[in-house]
Parts: sequence; C-alpha cells; structure tokens
Amino acid sequence: MAKDRDKSKVFIFDTTLRDAEQTPGATLTVPDKFKIAEQLARLNVDIIEAGFPVSSNEDFEAVKRIAHEVEGPRICALARAVALDINRGCDAIEGGMKTRLHTFVGTSPNHQEMMNKTPEQVLKMAVEAVELARSRCEDVEFSPMDATRTDPAYLNEIIEATIAAGATTLNIPDTVGYGVPEQFGELIRGIIEKVPNVNEAVIAVHCHDDLGMAASNTLSALKAGARQVECTINGLGERAGNASLEEVVMALATREDYYDLYTDVVTKEIISTSRLVTRLMGIAVAPNKAIVGANAFAHSSGIHQDGVLKNRSNFEIMSPRDVGLDDTAIVLTARSGRHALSFRLRELGYHLSAEELNKAYERFLEVADKKKEVFDEDLMAIVGDEIRDAPERFKLEYLHTVSGSGTVPSATVRIAIEGEEPIQKSAWGDGPVDATYEAINLATGSRSTVSVDEYTIHAITSGSQAMGEVTVRLSEGDMKTTGHGASTDVIEASAKAYIDALNRLHMLKGKQSAPQQQAV
Ligand SMILES: [Zn+2]
Repeated sequence: MAKDRDKSKVFIFDTTLRDAEQTPGATLTVPDKFKIAEQLARLNVDIIEAGFPVSSNEDFEAVKRIAHEVEGPRICALARAVALDINRGCDAIEGGMKTRLHTFVGTSPNHQEMMNKTPEQVLKMAVEAVELARSRCEDVEFSPMDATRTDPAYLNEIIEATIAAGATTLNIPDTVGYGVPEQFGELIRGIIEKVPNVNEAVIAVHCHDDLGMAASNTLSALKAGARQVECTINGLGERAGNASLEEVVMALATREDYYDLYTDVVTKEIISTSRLVTRLMGIAVAPNKAIVGANAFAHSSGIHQDGVLKNRSNFEIMSPRDVGLDDTAIVLTARSGRHALSFRLRELGYHLSAEELNKAYERFLEVADKKKEVFDEDLMAIVGDEIRDAPERFKLEYLHTVSGSGTVPSATVRIAIEGEEPIQKSAWGDGPVDATYEAINLATGSRSTVSVDEYTIHAITSGSQAMGEVTVRLSEGDMKTTGHGASTDVIEASAKAYIDALNRLHMLKGKQSAPQQQAV
C-alpha cells in the first residue's frame, strides 16, 4: 500500500521492447528480445514492457518467454482497452513470475473523435478494461493516451474511476510529445492534489521527445510527485523517441542534491545495455548523445583536456566508470584463447551460450588473423553479427569482386537458400558494392521489389586494418528493415549487411500485421 512505499524510490519502467520496437526497421526476433530483456534485468530496471501480444504471434511468444524466464523485473504486456487485447495480453503473461497488464485508451478530443466515442463511453471503456484486466492479473497499469491534450478535469475523473476499478499504476502519457516541463509538472501536481484516491496507485509518466524535452518533462513530473518513469535505452521509440533511460537515471544520480530521489538501476550496466540495443536494433547512437554517445566523455578542447588531467571533476560531472565505460582497454590477439575471449565479452555485457561462443571464437580468429590487434569495438561487432540471429533464409557462401581503375566493377556471389539449391549469379555495377548488391538481388529474386533506402559504413577502430561496419536500410512496399554486417573486407561487410536485411524482410513477411492503432 501507498503508506509503506518508500517515497523517494523512482520505479524504472523500460519500454525498449515495446515502444522502441515499433520504430520502422528496428524489428527484433524473439531471441533478440530475450537477450535485451536479460540485459535489462542485469541493469536492474523495475519493470520491462516486453511487447504488445495481440499485434503478432512473435510478440506474443516473446512476452510469454520473457515473463516465464527472465528473473528480477516485473514483466508487462500492453493491450488496448478491448477484451480481445486484454485477454491475449493476459494469456501471454499468465503463469509468469512477476507480471503486469498495461491497458490504454485515447482520452483527448482528437482520440475520442477518431474512435467515434463520447467522453462517457471512453470512461466506461477504461473502467471495464481495468476490471477485466484485474480479474486476470493483480498488477494493472492504465494509461489515458494523449493525456497532455485531454481536459484536466475529465482526465482526473478517468484517473479516479480507473484507480477505483483496481488500477495499481496510473500512467500519464505525453503521447505526441506536446508537453513542456513546467506545464507537464503542473499537470502531475494537479492530479496528485485533486484525485481523492491517488495514493492507492503509483503515478507514472511516459514522455515523447518530439520537442527534445522528454527527459526534462519526465524530471519535472518526478519533482511534482510522479514515481514511475517510462523510458527506453538510447531514447529510441516512436518518431523522435521516448525519454532516454540513461539520461533520466543519471540526472537523478548526479543531481540527487536537487531531486532527492533514487532508482535501483545498476548504472555500470548502462553502456553494455546501450551497445546491445544498438547492435540488435541496428540504430546507431549519435556521437554527441548524452551519457552513451561516443563523445559523451571525450574532451577535445585543449583547456578541457588539461583541466581533466589535473582533476577530473574540473570538467566532468560524472565518471565514465559510473556508466560502465572502462578506460583500460584490453587488446586481444590471435594467441588469446577462448577463455580470454569469453571473459572479455562478459565484461562487455555479452553473455553468450556455448554455441554462440564457438561461433564468435571462430570469427574472432578470422579477424585476429587479418588484424593483429582486436579491440573491444571489434569484438562487439563480431558478436553483434553472430547474435543478430534472424532466421537465415539466405546465406552468403561465396563472394568474388573485381574493381579498379579502368575496369568495370563486377561481382559473383553464391547464395545458399533454405531448402533449395544454392544459386550463383554475376552482375556489374557502378562500384563493387553496387555490383555485389545487384548479384545478390539476382540470386535471391529481390531485384524489382527491394530498394536500398540508406547505406552507411564506418571504420570500427582507427588505422587501415580497421574492421568496416555496414548498416543498410531496405524497404519492400510498407515493410522496412535494417541489416548489419562487419568484416575487415568492406565489400564482404556490405554483402553480409544486405543479406541480413533480406533475411529480416523475409521474417517480417511471415508476421501477422499489427493493429493499425497508435499506441501510448
Ligand atoms: Zn510511447
């Protein structure tokens, strides 16, 4: 009950697997989701929103597996305020260790109009949804979607009614990213002051970053009395994304003097978690991103470098070690054994199965053969490649390219196709990558349907021996996906990224289509 709750603890509700997974191109497989959930448990978040079970069979399976196998955090399933969704959500989490059902309905005039319902009808839907959810799950969260554009008096009425119906957490979402810090804080303060039964539930906030204020709005709400934060790793999510977990958590830790609040997050796991999500979702973090960007702790100005060398606190408000950045880089070589590799990978946040470790070790030896020193970044690329396990419909067996000044770039590939004979094709193009992609298109029958929306390559470490890491975004009709590949040979990395993306497109085609309704 509210009376016993520690008033200064902030519950961290991570929705990377639900809100961020809705990002076009960020689709995850069930094993991908499970890996992220295990890492979120190491990060020690309080609640993991694992998915939207009614949206696809994969989502249902992922939520079910996570609810039954991931220990520590409470596992939450999302459902619209309709019986079909709620029952499907409850089916997925039933029998899990610690579970929650999260249901929502749009309460703003825009959303009521969209559903063709009166305010009274929406209120009734919300109450009935919470009652149904409570009949199957002890812990129920309710969200009045688009709360920031809902009339505050009506919002309070819905909150009071859903708490009375049994909701244990009341989440106030800024679904469209319209809130500004002072006003959003006032909204939360108003709810806490005016809703008579507010102490029977935890007040949560879910902020989007359309105006770049998601973290600020969240902190302002905490100052006003909210005690659960809905956030994502790297701030990923719908459109401009959600409040970023690492920003909110580190703001509370660094400015405890001001907020006087705490979380149970193990901050040293932040970097590992960020890197795992980056790899599996295939969405890069901007170098200047707070906390987890490559430059977040780099000091380039001479005056700053000098100041930091004299005393880190001159220019650093946090220690890189607090978020898990270790400045003592360990370099592995071809002579490093499997044990050394496994040890270092665990330190980097990768907990591999024996089979995955075998695959990673083989790849490590290949890379160490070509490149004398293997850095952490190389290891992460190797492992990232091996553990992004989309079902492999297509597999690259052979690649040969010819390019140079005065020759027409050409490529020959042989692609193994699941359950069929391998196909070998040659093609020419504007450059070796273009020729390779054309040959892969011919071999896989993707030529007229798939388009490359974006291609990026970057060197993982410095020097000409650096591994190249390629990310390619493909689309086919409405479906978008991202592929990822790394190798010391940039053409091979490009081919792997393209085939990874084709495998993911193939996986998406097998998915049942998601409900065309906006989520929280
Ligand atoms: Zn959202």
